Amino acid sequence: MRGLAPYQTGLWLAEYMDMRCQLCRIYRSTPQSQLLRHQAPSSLHNIVDAPPTRTALKKHSFLTNIVHQANSHLSSGLLCAHCHNDITWLPRPFEVDIAPSISLSIQASTYYEYPIRQSIRAFKHQEDMTKLPLLLHAIRQLPRPHGCHRNNSVIVAMPTTSQRLVKRGFDPVSILSAQLSKYWQIPLWQGIKRIDDTVSQQGLSRAERLSNLDNAFALIEKPPTKRLLLFDDVSTTGASLQALARAFISPTAIKSVTDSGHNSYQISAYVLAHGSKS
Ligand SMILES: [Zn+2]
Repeated sequence: MRGLAPYQTGLWLAEYMDMRCQLCRIYRSTPQSQLLRHQAPSSLHNIVDAPPTRTALKKHSFLTNIVHQANSHLSSGLLCAHCHNDITWLPRPFEVDIAPSISLSIQASTYYEYPIRQSIRAFKHQEDMTKLPLLLHAIRQLPRPHGCHRNNSVIVAMPTTSQRLVKRGFDPVSILSAQLSKYWQIPLWQGIKRIDDTVSQQGLSRAERLSNLDNAFALIEKPPTKRLLLFDDVSTTGASLQALARAFISPTAIKSVTDSGHNSYQISAYVLAHGSKS
């Protein structure tokens, strides 16, 4: 096998790496050549200076290296700097009470407003998968909870009813939570289900939401870890996450947490977008 043609690598990268911003679709301001040189100076030197006698093994490791760098580049950001800076990332966490003296902290990656709002709606209601990269970019802004790893934590996605799944054909929250699980390297756990077939939370008052959600979730099995990271796509009042978290807090769990601080679940919540209460 002969050495790579001068532009072959560049063509290959241009073909397989979408260097455009997922939002404005403009090529990122840094020229690809500079970006690549900046990212992989030694590897590029190798190909530029590589004498034709280099072994196929070395070429193979070079390509493996480039693929790895391409992947890490893709995971590091899918927006141009302008679009990234244009969105307000990480609103202050807000809290809801889940038991006397126990509150649930909810961290959103951004606000539920343009362009995230439109993307979420298109993804959820029209199954527009072209919006997924932007939503992934948002999810990746969520701070990985300190001290959490695959052996001591699980992610609990907001469960959907089977009826809703059938109606919609797919479950957006489970798709997003699977991506978060992959990014954080923390497993998903699906031991809780939704038992109500109540009407959608949309358009209900806070009181109506709360009574609608009462007893909406049921544990199928005991969670395998003490740390539970709840996830939902959009949260406005936190009512759904509050109800989900409450399902893990039994009266005995509350007693034990007030008595000794042990033998209870440590629960925090994460959402893609924080909706406005207005
Ligand atoms: Zn952009």
